[in-house]
Amino acid sequence: MTKTIGILGAGQLARMLALAAHELGVKTICYDANDTSSAAAVTQTIQAPFEDKESLLAFASDCDVITYETESIPLAAAELLANEGIEVYPSRRALAMMQNRSLEKTFCRQLGIQTAEFTLVHNEEELRAAVFLLGYPCVLKTTMLGYDGKGQYRLKDDNDLSSLISSWKNNVGADPGVCLNEYILEQWLEHDGECSLLSVRDHDGHIKHYPLTYNQHQHGMLAYSRAPYPDPSLQKKANEIAERILQHFSYVGVLAIEFFIVDEELLINEMAPRVHNSFHWTIEGATTSQFANHIRALLHWPLGSCEAIASSHLFNCIGQLPSCESILSYPGAYYHDYGKMARPGRKLGHVTWCDFNHPGDTEIATVLWSEINNIYN
Ligand code: ATP
Ligand code: MG
Repeated sequence: MTKTIGILGAGQLARMLALAAHELGVKTICYDANDTSSAAAVTQTIQAPFEDKESLLAFASDCDVITYETESIPLAAAELLANEGIEVYPSRRALAMMQNRSLEKTFCRQLGIQTAEFTLVHNEEELRAAVFLLGYPCVLKTTMLGYDGKGQYRLKDDNDLSSLISSWKNNVGADPGVCLNEYILEQWLEHDGECSLLSVRDHDGHIKHYPLTYNQHQHGMLAYSRAPYPDPSLQKKANEIAERILQHFSYVGVLAIEFFIVDEELLINEMAPRVHNSFHWTIEGATTSQFANHIRALLHWPLGSCEAIASSHLFNCIGQLPSCESILSYPGAYYHDYGKMARPGRKLGHVTWCDFNHPGDTEIATVLWSEINNIYN
């Protein structure tokens, strides 16, 4: 009988999950409180608040299993579904931890995994104390709901701190001692680079890891990724870290971990209990895509090989899309349009170039990169 996967969220990640599911003969239904148009172009969607119990349960009644495309869904929605006996993967315990930067970093440290130094901050007094402790440069991040560098404030000196505090005071008005959110202040790392790992675990505890991916960010957003990133020692360290986390949660599905590389060691920046932008290259550049493997894990199907079949270069298209025709004129290039309204700083699509016909050559990648003129603000 046809299986149906429910997806909380209806953006481009849900859309790409739905496309991969479709190839496997699996139906998907996406549920989102906001704009569903990206996923709605390719699958059934429901637009209703996550707090709307009736709609949520009606959606779930049509699904065999539920997953999510973002860790920013309200935990209460996942809890409501699980309390009704509906399977939600990855687990709520993993979701609760990974949607909060403070819990996430505390968890890493409890497991003996390194992160940047950080301190929890709720108000001006705590912010000043944290800056005194960690020193400049540092970065203030909201503990929840941040993505693509949003909700972050870099502080390089006292002037930055003063302007941040006065902007708080202007926003909050009456009580200058209080800000409305919870933040962490984090030491700014002078790292040697950034990379990410995507791993997948099935219901029986089998684990597979994709090759490490090397990432470059611009304006706090992922702009470019390259894979495989061939460093056997780092790959081994990353795999070991991922395995400990996956086992801890008896995890089912894909897990993404973003790392800073410092002196040949890995520090966790953050984790995502979902498919990840830096592994979109796996659609064309790996034996099994991250989307297909997530679906296989959810449905108790055998996991596919995570092997890369070429070197892949991934370019995010932000703020505007390049010409499809021009991109497709390069052999080995693939064009992905998420069907979203253009806006500065918004991810609208991506381009992957795989070096099938030019192993080891990076010239075409450089030329392609020059065709993508991102608009950040
Ligand atoms: P995304 O959704 O793209 O993962 P995000 O909003 O969750 O982004 P982070 O991953 O915390 O934000 O930060 C985005 C980028 O900003 C990092 O990948 C890195 O390039 C830079 N950055 C963030 N924190 C630090 C830090 N402490 N030291 C050095 N660079 C940092
Ligand atoms: Mg990040």
